Amino acid sequence: MSRSKDVFSQALNLFPGGVNSPVRSWRSVGGEPFIVDRAEGPYLFDLDNNRYIDYLCSWGPLVLGHAPTAVKEALIAQLACGWSYGAPAEPEMILAKTIQEHVPALEMMRFTSSGTEAVMHALRVARGFTGRNKVVKFDGCYHGASDALLAKAGSGVATLGLPDCAGVIPSVVADTLTVPFNDIGAVESLFKSYPDTIAVVVLEPVIGNSGFIPPKSDFLAGLRELTSRYGSLLCFDEVMTGFRVSLSGAQGHFGVRPDLVTLGKVIGGGFPVGLYGGRRDIMSVVAPLGPVYQAGTLSGNPAGMVAGLATIGEWTKPGVFDRTAQATSNLVAGLSERARRFGIPFTAQSLGTMFGFFFHPGPIHSYDDAKRSDTERFKKFFHLMLEHGVYMAPSAFEAGFTSAAHTPDVIDATLEAAHESFKQL
Ligand SMILES: *Cc1c(COP(=O)(O)O)cnc(C)c1O
Repeated sequence: MSRSKDVFSQALNLFPGGVNSPVRSWRSVGGEPFIVDRAEGPYLFDLDNNRYIDYLCSWGPLVLGHAPTAVKEALIAQLACGWSYGAPAEPEMILAKTIQEHVPALEMMRFTSSGTEAVMHALRVARGFTGRNKVVKFDGCYHGASDALLAKAGSGVATLGLPDCAGVIPSVVADTLTVPFNDIGAVESLFKSYPDTIAVVVLEPVIGNSGFIPPKSDFLAGLRELTSRYGSLLCFDEVMTGFRVSLSGAQGHFGVRPDLVTLGKVIGGGFPVGLYGGRRDIMSVVAPLGPVYQAGTLSGNPAGMVAGLATIGEWTKPGVFDRTAQATSNLVAGLSERARRFGIPFTAQSLGTMFGFFFHPGPIHSYDDAKRSDTERFKKFFHLMLEHGVYMAPSAFEAGFTSAAHTPDVIDATLEAAHESFKQL
């Protein structure tokens, strides 16, 4: 028996599905996940010493690849000074200012320990600030595992939220309204139906959690206009897109300034760090300045702060992001070209250093579109790529991520693997 199989069989007794976060179990592609032994640069190594080119990068955070020297050194230096104080420390201020230089909408902010917490608290702040109850979210957008956001309409028609998850009681999502992504008309009708009760419209400005789905050209600007007109807030959940689609996130790339922003993933460089923030008047409702309570024992943890700081420091050096974005678009163009060679319906896209593909001729503008892609073909492709040493997200509805360690030779090796895999599909 392989060591991965042996260890995973033990994991199955300890954790639901053998994992500590569900998609890791490979349920939607079948088979059993390998167990990671170590990682370096663009590669993961499993317990049986197989090497994989990694296009998950820990689901986004690792923009420099695995175990980069600059981050290691920053962590070692911090560890010598202790790693959790529960009292203010300078790395928090330095990381906050660094992030603010790239995301100026963050006039005031607060660190959390995960993206889930960041979005959950941003919603509470939006409701506390506006005195309104309703939240608008989009079908296929994921905002972490908090109760109020585990709802979707399902039918693609605007409806009152219904729970999407056992254990979430209907009253908790009753004020969560769900509409299709990229459908500005649906959002406008919601505002007409509820002109004074929508606190906030929250979205992934570029979807990465139902595959990779960019916004139509005027969708984000349309949301900005509608929310302003009706006195609601606009919250960009950039936990995934922050420092990924551009150094200033989707808001910088598309030139739309939200009232509230959430970040996570990249800003912790692989450590548990999230952040929410935005307009100073809005953030002034947060305790101890105002009546909206929010707290966290390990929030602003110095190990996470210095890991994030070192990561962003390297990532924003001249040329690093642009080279990685170029590698990403070369990857996407190469995949499309090879799929075409074998006559396989396929759409692939990227923005900055995030990408995605569907076994479908496209275009894909919403989760409903994405669901029409050929997931059986995806499953086969996933396993073929794995056999050829390339690890992609184990679900047809996840984005992919590159890193500064994904150099042109790594991309070439990936495209060779893709050629062989498409040939056998
Ligand atoms: C990952 C993600 C979250 C949740 O972050 P966690 O750190 O996993 O809690 C929230 N929103 C978006 C857009 C994400 O991609």
